[in-house]
Amino acid sequence: MLASAAVNILFASETEKAEFWIPLLEKALPQDRFVTTTDQPIDIALIATPPAGTLGKLKGVKLIQSLWMGVEKLLADPGLPKGVPIARLLDPGMIAAMSESVLSHVLDWHRHHYRYRAQQAERQWRRRKQYLASDRTVGILGMGVLGTDAAKKLLALGFNVAGFSRRPKSMPGVQCFTDLAAMLRITDALVCLLPLTNETRGILNGRNLGLLKKHACVVNLARGGHLVVSDLIRELDSGHLAHAYLDVFDQEPLAPSEALWTHPGITITPHSAALTEPRTAIAKIAENVERVRRGETPHHLVDFASGY
Ligand code: NAP
Repeated sequence: MLASAAVNILFASETEKAEFWIPLLEKALPQDRFVTTTDQPIDIALIATPPAGTLGKLKGVKLIQSLWMGVEKLLADPGLPKGVPIARLLDPGMIAAMSESVLSHVLDWHRHHYRYRAQQAERQWRRRKQYLASDRTVGILGMGVLGTDAAKKLLALGFNVAGFSRRPKSMPGVQCFTDLAAMLRITDALVCLLPLTNETRGILNGRNLGLLKKHACVVNLARGGHLVVSDLIRELDSGHLAHAYLDVFDQEPLAPSEALWTHPGITITPHSAALTEPRTAIAKIAENVERVRRGETPHHLVDFASGY
């Protein structure tokens, strides 16, 4: 493609608002044409939860740029055309938001705020034992973009931090593991930031949760498919786990009839741990559009073999 050539860019999402995004995209990429239908040839597709059938019409596009960090739904769509590269969106605003969510849940557990909220409902004045951050080890499942940012910020607060990844890693101040059981045995607060793949589905199961230290908390901000809900409830009800913070669920929105809503050991948020933030994401999207225009490989391409 010529370095100056204008490109046709499809914006297809049932969750992200085109009327909000497109004016910002047009400002960042003034020479390009943004469309919301596949009636004309498309060069690049910007996608998050696209309307049914959209992916099947994208044969031959040069790039599918996800508007989200997680791409498991795109990869599982039978209409996904073979041979089209997919890029994840690494949005600085979203990364910062995720670390804030990790810190707020870990601190809520560490400072006993979930217990004090329950005590307030009972008008009960009772101080709990104080721990130092250095008494606690936070274990992070997934030491990718999100896991490493959260690790840095937890270290800055004085927590011991351990991280689990598929391939061996080293990060200053972090105990890095590829042996899951070894990490779980030293973990007081477990934070899941893994992609959902065949290997990671159900990783938060009874056997693994049972390895955590007594009165640990579990924070799942990745995907609902990582958690075996009945196993979590068993570990909470037995008193082995102190509390769980769940942001993601197999079926979203979580149905009003779900028992999880009222379990005293569970704090629920509506898949809001980190949202794509157009103000910080647009520059990253524009960077990849320019790379395609120059005939260069886009950043952050999905590795189809590993599923993330
Ligand atoms: P990433 O950069 O691709 O990092 C993934 C990490 O997981 C890597 O460290 C990887 O190991 C590790 N991993 C993958 N498969 C593994 C396995 N089988 N065993 C052990 N470790 C494994 O991903 P990210 O950008 O940090 O995002 C992670 C996930 O967060 C996304 O996929 C998405 O589902 C979720 N998310 C949720 C929200 C929300 O609002 N709740 C928002 C954004 C993202 P290697 O380092 O060895 O590759």
